[in-house]
Amino acid sequence: MTKSVNFSTYSSIKIGPTLNILLLDSLMPLPFGYRLIGGANNLLVSPTPPPLAMLDKCFDFIRLEENVLHVGGATPSGKMLSFAKKYDLSGFELMQKLPGTLGGMVAMNAGLKEWEIFNDLIAIRTEHGWIPKSQIEHGYRFAKIEGVVYEATFTCKKGFDENLLAMFKQMRDNQPKEASAGSCFKNPVGQYAGKLIEEAGFKGKKVGAMMFSNVHANFLVNLGGGTYKQAYELITSVKEEVFKRFGVKLEEEIIIL
Ligand SMILES: Cc1cc2nc3c(=O)[nH]c(=O)nc-3n(C[C@H](O)[C@H](O)[C@H](O)COP(=O)(O)OP(=O)(O)OC[C@H]3O[C@@H](n4cnc5c(N)ncnc54)[C@H](O)[C@@H]3O)c2cc1C
Repeated sequence: MTKSVNFSTYSSIKIGPTLNILLLDSLMPLPFGYRLIGGANNLLVSPTPPPLAMLDKCFDFIRLEENVLHVGGATPSGKMLSFAKKYDLSGFELMQKLPGTLGGMVAMNAGLKEWEIFNDLIAIRTEHGWIPKSQIEHGYRFAKIEGVVYEATFTCKKGFDENLLAMFKQMRDNQPKEASAGSCFKNPVGQYAGKLIEEAGFKGKKVGAMMFSNVHANFLVNLGGGTYKQAYELITSVKEEVFKRFGVKLEEEIIIL
């Protein structure tokens, strides 16, 4: 089964072609040569990406079983946050305005500062079976996942923290409002990508309708009608300039397909 997806509306950065995407509706491996997508909140899709697959909506679920939370890989972050609020559970406050599906969040170890999706994770379920967190190499915005994340389990702790939620809300208020895929680059160890981009003269720099935001230089924003070519040109030129000036290799957080 396939589904037609228009990436110029589906992706958070509002760029990309309309493609037929393969739907994974059982615990199957990703077919050879395919790339997996979730909510496309961290993607820049080119006009000619490899064949793509995504989880079917049958993997959009949340269940509480014997004090363990089971979440399907296609479940959106907003749904998890609402569930945690409703059942007074802690650990999901970081999902406030952190767009994505459970699978995409686990694959990127998404989070904000020290609050990361891996913190309360118990295990993930892929086509190879259940894998405990202790067997998954992970770190800052990184997780080494062999396979497709179809489901994950989380420790169930009482006490949804409204103060933490308010703090995340406040942090998010300082982010650019235009379409983006979040941070464009990972922070190099001991440095801030945004500061390097600014010091290289790219804060507010535009190519067509794409721009490194004036609010937060590490956000590559689409001012409306921006293209892949414009985005790619900015990404490559800032990398070159930062390397030339500071000898630092910026590594994309955004995934280019
Ligand atoms: C405004 C804005 C703010 C953001 N702020 C943050 C932030 O503060 N912190 C942060 O970490 N991120 C942030 N992001 C980025 C994004 O929210 C996260 O990376 C999120 O985890 C992406 O989830 P997704 O479902 O959209 O995944 P996608 O963007 O579709 O995919 C991301 C990666 O996950 C993989 N993937 C997707 N589904 C699965 C699966 N089921 N199994 C295995 N791999 C899978 C894909 O292959 C791809 O490599 C922000 C994005 C936006 C637009």
